Amino acid sequence: MIAASAAEPQPRWQALWREAITDAGELLQLLDLAHLAPHLPQADAGFPLRVPRGFVARMRRGDARDPLLLQVLPQLAECADPAAARDAVGDAAARAAPGVIHKYRGRALLIASGACAVHCRYCFRRHFPYADETAAAGRWQAALAWLRAHPEIDELILSGGDPLSLATAKLAELDEALRDFPQLRRLRIHTRLPVVLPERVDAELCRWLSGLPWPVALVLHANHPRELDDSVAAACARLRHAGVRLLNQAVLLKGVNDDAGTLAALGARLFDLGVLPYYLHQLDRVRGTLHFEVDDDTALALHAELRRRLPGYLVPRLVREEAGAPAKTPLVPA
Ligand SMILES: *Cc1c(COP(=O)(O)O)cnc(C)c1O
Ligand code: SF4
Repeated sequence: MIAASAAEPQPRWQALWREAITDAGELLQLLDLAHLAPHLPQADAGFPLRVPRGFVARMRRGDARDPLLLQVLPQLAECADPAAARDAVGDAAARAAPGVIHKYRGRALLIASGACAVHCRYCFRRHFPYADETAAAGRWQAALAWLRAHPEIDELILSGGDPLSLATAKLAELDEALRDFPQLRRLRIHTRLPVVLPERVDAELCRWLSGLPWPVALVLHANHPRELDDSVAAACARLRHAGVRLLNQAVLLKGVNDDAGTLAALGARLFDLGVLPYYLHQLDRVRGTLHFEVDDDTALALHAELRRRLPGYLVPRLVREEAGAPAKTPLVPA
């Protein structure tokens, strides 16, 4: 085998990752919204703006209420709820080992990486102390040692951050080690990268996925049908060709997707791409995100309307995550 030379070009997705927009002024300029700049917060509350250029290209120019823009643009309202929790979902208490979160029977979640290509303003992990906590640190030893002591775990979930932010070689290092665990029946990957940076789904990644010895479920994260342009459709087709089953989780977000027409269009578009809607999450109430919250009565009414409009298999489960609960909690009408 020929050793990789230092001069070997980096995969294109890594260059696109680095070229992401991180400056609000530049983002607004690109969208013909420069007049909004004085109304933005001065500080970023430790969670800077970040969005790949390809995702920005799907935003409507001149539209300050664009549902894709609202997901990434820091707002003054983020400073309005200083009393809200930093860890609303009990992740700290469920930390089983460095980079391992164990809440539910049979499934363990690995914080594979702390990095994301996009910074979603509503993210419940925006305060998570990633630097100390990624499972990929070292050669995944802490996570592997924990798994060895827990033979009842039959599904590993790679999450983050975004696990596909790791180089494919780093992912391959994990799967080589995991082949020694006969208990594993499924591998799951929670990622927003095929949506926000579809170039990440390159030939190298697809080769890795199709060579895995376990059935793989990949849970995407798209909140609005306009996120799913032709480049995302092509990435989904490559993933399906690699034998991966595709699901989607969305977060119910005020001003972004809190109307039945948008959610129904999202379900229909997902199915066109070979993706089934899985969860529609009520917002996790962490600091800096409450301006996105949709109240439960409205959420239930939206969900009831979706059940009227869509075939049952395109209706996502409306859930919230409750610290200490044995599974995601379905919302049920009072
Ligand atoms: C959401 C979550 C899971 C996955 O739950 P499913 O209902 O199986 O999708 C697993 N572990 C943790 C810690 C979670 O937060
Ligand atoms: S991609 Fe996922 S983990 Fe990363 S900021 Fe967005 S919601 Fe949070």
